[in-house]
Amino acid sequence: MQAKSLYGMAVEQFNKAAELMDLEPDLAEVLRRPKRALIVEFPVMMDDGHIEVFTGYRVQHNVARGPAKGGIRYHPDTNLDEVKALAFWMTWKTAVMNLPYGGGKGGIRVDPKKLSKRELERLSRRYFSEIQIIIGPHNDIPAPDVNTNPDVMAWFMDTYSMNVGHTALGIVTGKPVDLGGSKGREEATGRGVKVCAGLAMEALGIDSKKATVAVQGFGNVGRFGALLIAQELGSKVVAVSDSKGGIYNPEGFDVEDLIKHKKEAGTVVTYPKGERIANEELLELDVDVLVPSALENAIHEGNADKIRAKAIVEGANGPTTPEADELLFKKGVLVVPDILANAGGVTVSYFEWVQDLQAFFWKLEQIRSALEEMMTDAFNDVMKTKEKYGVDMRTAAYVLAIDRVAYATRKRGIYP
Ligand code: NAD
Repeated sequence: MQAKSLYGMAVEQFNKAAELMDLEPDLAEVLRRPKRALIVEFPVMMDDGHIEVFTGYRVQHNVARGPAKGGIRYHPDTNLDEVKALAFWMTWKTAVMNLPYGGGKGGIRVDPKKLSKRELERLSRRYFSEIQIIIGPHNDIPAPDVNTNPDVMAWFMDTYSMNVGHTALGIVTGKPVDLGGSKGREEATGRGVKVCAGLAMEALGIDSKKATVAVQGFGNVGRFGALLIAQELGSKVVAVSDSKGGIYNPEGFDVEDLIKHKKEAGTVVTYPKGERIANEELLELDVDVLVPSALENAIHEGNADKIRAKAIVEGANGPTTPEADELLFKKGVLVVPDILANAGGVTVSYFEWVQDLQAFFWKLEQIRSALEEMMTDAFNDVMKTKEKYGVDMRTAAYVLAIDRVAYATRKRGIYP
């Protein structure tokens, strides 16, 4: 099944904002195209001695404001169109957050669950060597994404370091904390989601201590998002879900206990202190805030009308389709877009890179407060743009980001 072009959809979002802000057509053409797209085909010796050839990608969409930044995913469906779209979104995410970065993304077309640990290590090291001709601590700094983790980042860092002849901690982020990683990285995206949920409630005049919240997806983003919303905003997390289904408790869950249960049982649905609900039902609950933190396209034309939440904070990338976006805007639902709401992760990745380059590491409290301040500034910048143009928050976030990248491009000029 061939899905609709993700890059095409991403460009549609860009075009809407570019038209609204009257961006010069020539400049729009420069900004919507990727700067570089590298395809690598490389052999890996499997454990039984036979050789397999894999396909990998690294795309640098834009580097006008600084080095490219973005994760590397391992997935059987990974393709150039998807990686181009993800790199494109990273350009706008780093610009919304005002980070001195551009956007990039990479991936290998592989099902990592079918590889042994040794095969995974050889695959990772060879791929990283292949893309080394375009990456570097001042050129392009990869990070984890779907199916890659701190262990893979340690192999990447070691491979690059062996090739250049010295340890280069700043070549990737998301490394183990005791090997040039940053404290606070694991919770960072969830913490950013919490900040956005709190500010969205404030904007709507909702008292967070009396608010109810539903969280779709209970992985890295959903788990930490739910925990911090309950602990630090005092809201009731009344529903959560994972790929096996959802659970509901109008009194609110003890999220810490629920995390423990998920770790032991592998799912939230068997948690005894809640009633089972279907994934679709969770999205349509009468709650103040909905946090989709699972997959793309969760909120679409078919269910947008049934959404009763007053605000949606997009923990996931691309959980709302453009058709649903319009319906929600008409209904007056405040949608905090992914390029802002889930930018906590890339922001702490930026802190990790800064710490690596300085070889000086920060305390957890310092990281948390710097992240919260930057998330708050970005949220307020997007709100100001939203009011100025009378548009939804997603379009406003794009306008703000495009304006920043366009400024850098005009100031730098077109080389030569
Ligand atoms: P993850 O794999 O840790 O968690 C995903 C969760 O979603 C799992 O609990 C899974 O069971 C659940 N899920 C899958 N299908 C579902 C369904 N149909 N209904 C309900 N739940 C379902 O992944 P993650 O790192 O938490 O990422 C989630 C999303 O957030 C992705 O879109 C990712 O690109 C985005 N994101 C993640 C980060 C990060 O730092 N981890 C940063 C920015 C954006």
